[in-house]
Parts: sequence; C-alpha cells; structure tokens
Amino acid sequence: VYRWEPIDEHILGEGSADRREGYDTDEKVRDRAVELLTDEPDLDVLFVSMDDVDATGHDEGFSPDVPEYVAAVERAENMTADILDALGARDQSQETWLVIITSDHGGGGRFLKMHHPSTLIDRNTFMLVTGGSAIQGEMTNDPVIIDVAVMALNHLEVPLPEGEEALDGRNSAFDSTVPPAREPTCEKPIFYYRVNLMAALVGTCCLSICASVIFITVRLRKQRQGRGKLGGMSHPNEDVIPADVGNSHSE
Ligand SMILES: [Zn+2]
Repeated sequence: VYRWEPIDEHILGEGSADRREGYDTDEKVRDRAVELLTDEPDLDVLFVSMDDVDATGHDEGFSPDVPEYVAAVERAENMTADILDALGARDQSQETWLVIITSDHGGGGRFLKMHHPSTLIDRNTFMLVTGGSAIQGEMTNDPVIIDVAVMALNHLEVPLPEGEEALDGRNSAFDSTVPPAREPTCEKPIFYYRVNLMAALVGTCCLSICASVIFITVRLRKQRQGRGKLGGMSHPNEDVIPADVGNSHSE
C-alpha cells in the first residue's frame, strides 16, 4: 500500500505482490493498511509507504527547526501507531510478525529543502525493528537501509541469493556482531553537477548581461558626447552639454 506512484512503477512492478494499491493521501494508506491487517487472516507481508514527511521536507525544509516538518513526522508517527494497534489486535497465534520501520533518506544537508547531493545528513535515517529474531536494545552496528530487504527475506525464510547476486544488506537487528556493510562506490549524483553547471551558466549569463550593459552605456555616452560636441558647436552658450553628461554619469 503506497502513496508515491514511482514505488509501484520502479520498485514493486508487475507480479511483485498479490496486491499493489496506491492512494492519494497518507491517511487512506493508513486506513487500508489497518483494514488489511484486520480483515485478511492470510496476510504474509504488508509494505506500507507514506509520503507526507518527504513532501513537507521538500516544501518547507528537512529540519527539526521547521515546525511543519516536525508536525508531518508526528502525523506519520501517529498513523504508524494506528497500524501497529491493528497488528496488535490481530490473532497472531499462528504467525510471527517482524516489523521494520524506517525512512529511505534524511535531508537538509547541503540544501534545506532537498536530500541531494547525498551528504551525510541526507543519508542519515533511523531504523526500528521489532519482533522475529530482533535483539532488544540499540543497534550499534551501523544499520543501513539495505539491511531491510535481507532481514525481511530472512524472517520469511526466503533463501538469499549468493555469489555475484549476493545482497549487500546484513541482519543488523538480529546479530549485533555483523561486519560493516560494503561502502557504496556511487558516482557523485548527477544533480550535484547540474547545480554547479547551473551556477556556472547563470554566472556566465550575468557576466554577459553586465558586459552588454557596460558596452551599451559606453556607446550611448559616446553618442551623447558626439551629439553634445555638435550641439556645443552650434549653441556654444547653452547649458546642454554638462546636463547631458551629468545624466549619463548617474546611469
Ligand atoms: Zn524526496
């Protein structure tokens, strides 16, 4: 159950789940999740994605100093509590649920309203894991987002791919001694270059405009001085030349 369309287009996709349902508000996503947990005894996996926190971050800023952002986080927290209440009310005599709550990124690193260009604070997020084989206490083994898939698959007893296909994630909530995850070798985000490129382009445009303005001003002044000289020759006693030159100075 999701709000942000690309989750279905680019992450889930055809055949990935028995049901893929998109809703236009987080409240509807919450309501549907509660409904599924309440009405579907055969439910195996439930993926719930809310979007307001991200949208508010982009609109107002990703920061604890932005009240709108904090309010969006609190709304998401309350809706998550509703979903967990529905899970708690379920007959779990024949099932063991693992609950993983996380965000796919932080934000407000280099730019307040963005999570590009993936600075440390853009990549900083939280992860809460409960149930299944999760160990109680703080995860001090650097949990990372890629651990989510590995823990979910392990909990469902789905064999993990090996060799070349092996996943980078670890059972960070089940095993406090797991080694650190592989450092991703990502290129710098394209957007980072775009911002710099845009700055360079805007800078160049400004320089060109300034150069043109100076050129036009100089030209105008020369023309006026030329006219002034002529005027001066025909009306030597009139005050036209100094007044005109004075105006062009003030421009
Ligand atoms: Zn975003």
